[in-house]
Amino acid sequence: MSSNILDGRKISAEIRSSIKEEVEKLKERGINPTLAVVLVGEDPASKVYVSQKEKGCEETGIASRKYALPAETTQVELLSLVRKLNEDKEVHGILVQFPLPAHLNETKVLAAMNPEKDVDGFHALNVGKLVSGQPCFESCTPKGVITLIERTGIPIEGKSAVVIGRSNIVGKPVAAMLLARNATVTIAHSKTKNLPEVVKQADIVVAAIGKPRFVTADMIKEGAIVIDVGINRLHEGLVGDVDFEEAVRKASWITPVPGGVGPMTIAMLLQNTLKAAGKQGG
Ligand code: NDP
Repeated sequence: MSSNILDGRKISAEIRSSIKEEVEKLKERGINPTLAVVLVGEDPASKVYVSQKEKGCEETGIASRKYALPAETTQVELLSLVRKLNEDKEVHGILVQFPLPAHLNETKVLAAMNPEKDVDGFHALNVGKLVSGQPCFESCTPKGVITLIERTGIPIEGKSAVVIGRSNIVGKPVAAMLLARNATVTIAHSKTKNLPEVVKQADIVVAAIGKPRFVTADMIKEGAIVIDVGINRLHEGLVGDVDFEEAVRKASWITPVPGGVGPMTIAMLLQNTLKAAGKQGG
């Protein structure tokens, strides 16, 4: 079977273009969709992610407000900013870039956030709603994974899906979203026995492990959809968790790294911000 490549850059560009049109419509109604981005400290990777998010906002006409705080910001100061943004009627979405410096408590920051403005979808209320099948803000990378699968045109319902990885930010929410779409879902992790046999049963494989080329072609069922969330920085450049060169021969659809799931994450953040602005603007 030769694969079709799921081109995350192209799909995310299409999504951003439709978001831009929707943003225009909201502006005509007097609503100016606005995202507040809070960055604490000088972590280089976080700075890159924040600037990519600002660029995405600019491209789609969403206003972004950046709050760059020093690394020594206290918990009280950060919580006070979050509460101020909760109250600010002109701000529709709030994103606090993680990881925070070690002295700050991420769980408390999320708990302080208005769930209606939690466009990253990490607030416990949004996570609980996701698991119990209620409408909510779905977190961005998992939502990007699902959007890519949907773009294949192959129905998720009834498929056997294996998610490798059970983190709160990727594995668990992806599994919940697949279950909500009526897939039969298995979550695999580091203690899973006979992982290759487990993965081989899957019509849909989502790899979110953080180990370069961990998923090899012999683990993949002929014709499976393979979504590679992994980002591993090697000497030779970025590689995913799937051995793309070989797996591409077995899968019906597969995402490359880079250029697969990565570009979708920001598109989903913009989509959530648009949704938040629409809801809050009535
Ligand atoms: P975590 O380190 O939090 O979780 C990794 C998961 O992989 C854990 O559940 C772990 O199992 C599992 N795992 C580790 N080793 C094995 C193994 N040998 N066999 C089976 N499972 C294993 O990572 P994240 O979920 O945060 O991220 C995963 C990858 O996705 C990373 O490469 C990260 O960079 C990337 N990522 C990409 C994003 C994007 O926008 N494209 C966004 C977020 C992450 P256990 O729980 O048992 O330890």
